[in-house]
Amino acid sequence: MSNKLIFIMIDGLRYDTAVSQMGYLHHLIEKGKASRFKVKSELPSLSRPLYEVLLTGTPAYKNGITTNQTVRLSHEESLFHLTKKHGLKNATASYYWVSELYNSGPFNPVTDRIQLDPSKAIERGIFYWEDHYPDSHLFADANFLLDSYEPDFLYVHSMNIDDDGHKFTADSKEYRNRAITVDKILATVLPKWMEAGYQIIVTADHGMNDDGQHGGTTPADRDVPLFIISNRLAPGIYEEEIPQLQIAPLACELLSIQPSAAMQQLMIPNLKVASSH
Ligand SMILES: [Zn+2]
Repeated sequence: MSNKLIFIMIDGLRYDTAVSQMGYLHHLIEKGKASRFKVKSELPSLSRPLYEVLLTGTPAYKNGITTNQTVRLSHEESLFHLTKKHGLKNATASYYWVSELYNSGPFNPVTDRIQLDPSKAIERGIFYWEDHYPDSHLFADANFLLDSYEPDFLYVHSMNIDDDGHKFTADSKEYRNRAITVDKILATVLPKWMEAGYQIIVTADHGMNDDGQHGGTTPADRDVPLFIISNRLAPGIYEEEIPQLQIAPLACELLSIQPSAAMQQLMIPNLKVASSH
């Protein structure tokens, strides 16, 4: 069984748009290579709080990252800390808020774009700070990290879907077409990444409503997809709704490392749990 994981976080991708627009990912499901769940996001359905949710498995009232303007290092044990602690190599190509949560903040674009310091929680990072930084370039950054450092855990975080959702709303050809564009990028990189022996999960922080915003409690704000490519899970479409706090312990399970004490017990149906950590 592979213990390597690529975690792809597509900012602002709501569930129904992923289901209707992402043909390559659904090809993998139809052909028995992937599974799909619906995830209910934590609240508030905002980016920085949910980055912390996804990467630490802790809710906002506890971790204190309650707004997008909460600029400080996380106080929790993240997937970066945990992989490092267990001797695994990590890397990320992400929006700069991820650097601010786990490496250093506030972010300085002049000095902090490329961070290659294995003494930090994030051992190798390439960060962008423009919301329109092309997803095509972001996935190429991720592929560079993969080829250069062969990380056991690679976190890839794209932003163009969220950006177009804010500019044009979720009920727009721009938002839907951007989801198709990301699916096409995945169709170019995932075959190589799967061939390299990685398990892959694809999910989102929050959705997007028809006013071009998120932050509320509606299914448009909260419902996001979860695709899993791993031989630990029977492929197919699962109707069970997964709480977002399950994603971090899921990542730990796929990496075969002990989750943090703050994380929920894993409850994802039909997941073959490794016999020992
Ligand atoms: Zn947003």
